[in-house]
Amino acid sequence: MSGPVLFRRGRVIDPRSGVDGVRDVLVQDGKVAQVSEAPLQLSGAEVVDAQGRWVLPGFIDLHVHLREPGEEGKETVLTGSRSAVAGGFTAVVAMPNTKVVNDSALVTELVLSRARAAGLCHVYPAGAITKGLKGEELAEMGELISAGCVCITDDGRPVMNAALMRRALQYATIFDIPVMVHEEDLTLSGKGAMTEGPTATRLGLLPIPPSAEVAMVARDLVLLEETGGRLHIAHLSCEGSVRLVREAKKRGLRVTAEATPHHFTLDDTAVGQYDTHAKMNPPLRLRRDAEALREALADGTIDAIATDHAPHGVLDKQVEFDKGINGVVGLETALGLTLALVHEGVLSPLKAVELLTDGPSRAFGLPGGHLAPGSTADITLVDPEVEWAVDAERFFSKSRNTPFNGRLLKGRVTQTWVGGRLVFSDGQIKESR
Ligand SMILES: [Zn+2]
Repeated sequence: MSGPVLFRRGRVIDPRSGVDGVRDVLVQDGKVAQVSEAPLQLSGAEVVDAQGRWVLPGFIDLHVHLREPGEEGKETVLTGSRSAVAGGFTAVVAMPNTKVVNDSALVTELVLSRARAAGLCHVYPAGAITKGLKGEELAEMGELISAGCVCITDDGRPVMNAALMRRALQYATIFDIPVMVHEEDLTLSGKGAMTEGPTATRLGLLPIPPSAEVAMVARDLVLLEETGGRLHIAHLSCEGSVRLVREAKKRGLRVTAEATPHHFTLDDTAVGQYDTHAKMNPPLRLRRDAEALREALADGTIDAIATDHAPHGVLDKQVEFDKGINGVVGLETALGLTLALVHEGVLSPLKAVELLTDGPSRAFGLPGGHLAPGSTADITLVDPEVEWAVDAERFFSKSRNTPFNGRLLKGRVTQTWVGGRLVFSDGQIKESR
């Protein structure tokens, strides 16, 4: 058990309690004991001088691929946890599309035991909606949830069969867990390699129309309205999807949504001359789509910024564009790219922090995401002023596939604390053993 820690005179931004101001934060027995405007004293407490730093609830990422079991060359629960805490994330939701798929308690338990052994951040497994992600037969939802899954998803693939999707939503109401969906109508996306638009035309690549996503969002919102379940839409990428989610929320449907830093930062022009680091699914869309996502982040239509951290090997990307594998790593660049929206005046600091903490916590009903006394002391310290250039070679992730290599960012995580224990400090991981 770690001793008491006093974070002195940092700018505490805690969206759930509406706090944005200089405070002292006292941590005892791994929990937040006190947040005070007046300076605190406690003899024997380790003091962290937080002047000039932001003191934030630990970030929560609802969408991470840790690749274990099966593709440990790309990432493991351990290396993914390192990458997470280096990026300020104290909790991640691990997608089930591993090789073996997480569609049984056995795989869920394996991921949880690897996470305990890593001992760095909270890892919440997500179970599959359908057995083997095949979209044919529902997985044993009850078994997955008793084993520790916090949601179900076939992420990476849509559930094309509408009746099956309807049954998943209905069944999930028993457990009151979100059904997380990767919205893609495969008959519309086909063999497409990037979004429909001028860049696809110029490069002669097969296009993926926005309808591939928007039509599925529409379908699932209709199903949701009938079942009364909880729907979480992963990686929203299109203006049309944003509009549908905004309208559904207005009508009181239990829908939540996330957007990734790459979708709200980049557009199709990032593909440049067939850069496979700009290849992901859903694809980068047009500028007006990225603008719509930014608006939706600001007005509450989108609940969470999630990275869709998707590690891949070098060779997976060193191929022709249409054969290149989808996905980018994101844990270590998420904060800087989110803060870019603050610097551009799109988000207030409070809103930006909410999208990384309270928003994802509420969307999935996860613990954490705030600094209320009594809560687990998951805390992220940020230097908001430091400017740095992304260097993929220095990632803690095993993989280097990022379209942001060399990009200048302002604002960086300096320390990450999980349960009152320092796990990352000034560029170093603090392993417990
Ligand atoms: Zn996906």
